[in-house]
Amino acid sequence: MRFWYITRLTFALAALMLSLLFLAYGLGLIPDAESLSLDSRGGLAKTLGIEAANAVQADNVKPFEGVVRQVLDSGTDLLSAGLRNAAGDLIADVGEHAQNWKDPGEKSTSTHVWMWLDLNGAPWGRAEFTFKPLAQSKFFGLWPGGPVGRLFAFCGVTSIVCFGFYLWYVMGRVLGQSDAGIPQRVRATLDTLAEGVLVLDKQNRIAHANRAFAKLAQITTEELQLRTVDDLCWTRPRGAITADAAMPWEAAARDGITRIGVPLMLTPSEIDEYMVSVNATPILTDTGESRGILATFDDMTEMEKRNTSMQELLHKLKQSRTEIHRQNQELKLLATRDPLTLCLNRRAFFTELNPLYEQSARTGSPLSAVMVDIDKFKKINDQFGHATGDQVLFQVAELLRNRSRTTDVVCRYGGEEFALILPQTDIDVAADIAERLRIALADSAIAGVPVTASFGISALQLGPTGPQSLLDQADKALYAAKRGGRNRVNRFSDTGTDESITAMDSLSNIPSPSDTPIRPNSAIPYPAVTALISALAYRDNMTAEHSRRVADFCVTVGRSMLSQSDCYTLEVAALLHDIGKLGVPDAILFKAGKLTDEEFKIMRLHDRMGVEIISAAFASESLTRIVGSYQTKYGSTVGATGTPVGMSIPLPARLLAIADAFDSMTTDRSWRKGFNRDEAFAELRRCAGPQFDPALVERFIGVISAQIGPHEPSMTVSKETALRIGALIEHLAAAIDSQDAPALATLAEQMVAEANECTLPVLADAANQLKELAERAGDWSEIASLAKNMLDVCRSTQSVYMRAAYNEAKNIPELVTLKSGAMPKPLDDFGDEPAIQMQLMASTAPPEVEDEDEESIFSSGDGDIQPSTADIESRRQYRRSLVLPQ
Ligand code: GH3
Ligand code: MG
Ligand code: MG
Repeated sequence: MRFWYITRLTFALAALMLSLLFLAYGLGLIPDAESLSLDSRGGLAKTLGIEAANAVQADNVKPFEGVVRQVLDSGTDLLSAGLRNAAGDLIADVGEHAQNWKDPGEKSTSTHVWMWLDLNGAPWGRAEFTFKPLAQSKFFGLWPGGPVGRLFAFCGVTSIVCFGFYLWYVMGRVLGQSDAGIPQRVRATLDTLAEGVLVLDKQNRIAHANRAFAKLAQITTEELQLRTVDDLCWTRPRGAITADAAMPWEAAARDGITRIGVPLMLTPSEIDEYMVSVNATPILTDTGESRGILATFDDMTEMEKRNTSMQELLHKLKQSRTEIHRQNQELKLLATRDPLTLCLNRRAFFTELNPLYEQSARTGSPLSAVMVDIDKFKKINDQFGHATGDQVLFQVAELLRNRSRTTDVVCRYGGEEFALILPQTDIDVAADIAERLRIALADSAIAGVPVTASFGISALQLGPTGPQSLLDQADKALYAAKRGGRNRVNRFSDTGTDESITAMDSLSNIPSPSDTPIRPNSAIPYPAVTALISALAYRDNMTAEHSRRVADFCVTVGRSMLSQSDCYTLEVAALLHDIGKLGVPDAILFKAGKLTDEEFKIMRLHDRMGVEIISAAFASESLTRIVGSYQTKYGSTVGATGTPVGMSIPLPARLLAIADAFDSMTTDRSWRKGFNRDEAFAELRRCAGPQFDPALVERFIGVISAQIGPHEPSMTVSKETALRIGALIEHLAAAIDSQDAPALATLAEQMVAEANECTLPVLADAANQLKELAERAGDWSEIASLAKNMLDVCRSTQSVYMRAAYNEAKNIPELVTLKSGAMPKPLDDFGDEPAIQMQLMASTAPPEVEDEDEESIFSSGDGDIQPSTADIESRRQYRRSLVLPQ
């Protein structure tokens, strides 16, 4: 490279030199061949003229002719010569002068030259010479054989040699001087680096370039050292955003600050382009003075290419993923939708329904199902044709889809039947929705055809046993609607009749003692609870009192573990857990004698009856679940019935089981004295695991032992007041759970009015405090605390009222006669009253089965607790006392 560079420079200089010579020649500074030739012809003519003059003088032309012939022979430009006297006669003629001569006139020309000859002072004639014509132009002299040409050739060759040598010598010295500042070992080190390195002086001249950079720039390091860095072709990468327009080495020199990772494009040739990442650092002397820049160039081209191809790949992947997703969606749509109506098909419907059902059953959240059947669709087909029928189906489906929420599930269940699942929707809301759909359908003339449909609805709260059972219930309701005349909405009812009012509705319709601002459709209407518990009190006072105590234990322990609403549900569950005894016929419940096996069976049915009474009376799935599952043993394995065990038993049910057993243990019975608290705790612990949730037992013991005893405020509560306050408890609990301060304020206001009217200052106080704070929307934790306090006072009113009611019940004469055995008495007192003992056992103790010695003596249900040996013995004694002759 260096050789070619010097050669090119040498030739350029030689060419420059020849150009100058040529200019000088053009300006006439170098004599040309013509003038040289004319000069030599002039000189020759003059010499021969002197010979001619001598010949005329001597009157002898011979010597002249001899000289001329010699000249002609010597090969000069001379062609001929002659002497002509004044008369014009040719006296001497050499070289056929007579033919060659053409008189040029007064003045000689370049080919015809003459001169006067005198003889003795008088003109004699003239000497004439002819020469070869001067054929060349002025520049003919430049031809290589010519004198000037030779000069040019000489100068050209010598200058090439001389300049070449000179440049070789000088360049070596210059380069040597340029690299002189960088020691050889440093240069060698820089050459080993994979990244390009440039050392620039203060004028951006390249003082040193390492091999990597030379390779990148496709120029030798020596050539680079003759250039500035800016001589190279730099550009910014496309799309690069740069705050500083200056090149990194300029910016580094300007600010004295290192620039790092500045991307630049270097284009060394037309076909190559490199992306480099440039770092530029000022080189400073010890005194901080700038000496230049050290710039490094990292070739990012490959990485950039890979990056770009990766981006392209990613883009393609994304596109194909989107496409796959789209196709999957299409496939899913094809697999899950009915092609005519675009609703879910049956298979997809059940895929959606099953988990929704499971979740709602687990969490107790509401879920409703609606079955829709187009009325007289066959007639539409017959009258308008199947195409119109299809159109009607599509538009009905579209209306159902458009008017349902995104969370609802719409399915084409059969030919002209549709099924809707409405999550988080109880039966009342579902009925509203169905009614709106029915009206919308009836109002829209679909495809020009008047269309109506019948709707059947059911909900989880109506006690289906599974998803299919829920749909079957809705289907039953639908066909009841058909029978009822079509174009109507019907709720499922156990009775299977066409009436659309369920048991729950009828209970809800008990005139509310006060207008409650929240939840007009209460799931557990308090008057119904009170009515049932009062009925139980009149029928079996002891059980009613036991229920009240169990409820108090449940609330005491459960309030810190459950939401207020759940706690309320648990309280009601505890109050009603023995309500099944209402369903036991008087003949058995109060039978004055030994029960037959058949009667025992009926007696044992009371738990199931309880669940049925509760599920029929209340639209609360969770209440039914608690009462239905509290007797399941914690440690039992899953039975054929599939009832939950262990932790799958709802927490309130596990707690109710413990509270129920605890109260049974601590209550004196006719055949044994009740345990004291510590004995009862020990018994609970003994049965923890197989029978009770052990952690919950500990919690129960912890909370109950810390209890400082009931401190019910002294007050008198009438039935009406108890009912009115009781009806507000559920709403109060719900408002606390939903942190609804305005609702609490309204409830508190109602409670103040109620308390004042009934002269309940404790309640009025609590309600007033809550009202004030809730209206001010003060700190929520304070509001909640006051609300819970008011809730407790409300609960106390219920306890007080119920206690009064029990006492009242006890004093009814005929009941006293019948139920005297229900009063706790020492076992000895009953020695001669077997019939009365039998009655007592039927109402409060577990029903007896002859061979079931292992049952607990404490449970009011059918044998919850595994009894200790001592218990079994005392029970055997008791049983022996029963087998007395009548
Ligand atoms: P009801 O009010 O008692 O429900 O009377 P109905 O005529 O609607 O009930 P029925 O079950 O007797 O008739 C249903 C009709 O729906 C019969 C069947 O031909 C028609 N059908 C079922 N699937 C389709 C369909 O995809 N397209 C059309 N056009 N008709 C269908
Ligand atoms: Mg139909
Ligand atoms: Mg049908």
